[in-house]
Amino acid sequence: MPIYIVNKQAQPDTGDHEVHETSCGHLPLAHNQQHLGYFSNCYDAVREAKKYYRNADGCAHCSSACHTS
Ligand SMILES: [Zn+2]
Repeated sequence: MPIYIVNKQAQPDTGDHEVHETSCGHLPLAHNQQHLGYFSNCYDAVREAKKYYRNADGCAHCSSACHTS
């Protein structure tokens, strides 16, 4: 099961806080990563991230099924 993180910094263009698997090649800098935990799918990870950031969204690369904008 992948470990997910959320970017503490919002994307400047969309205002979204992107959710990534830790194996993603497009991770934010380490100090901008907020640990979310193990999830079997990106939907649950994004739901967890939305507890912290209302505008959480899946990364287009590692979590494309949850990428909405
Ligand atoms: Zn990613």
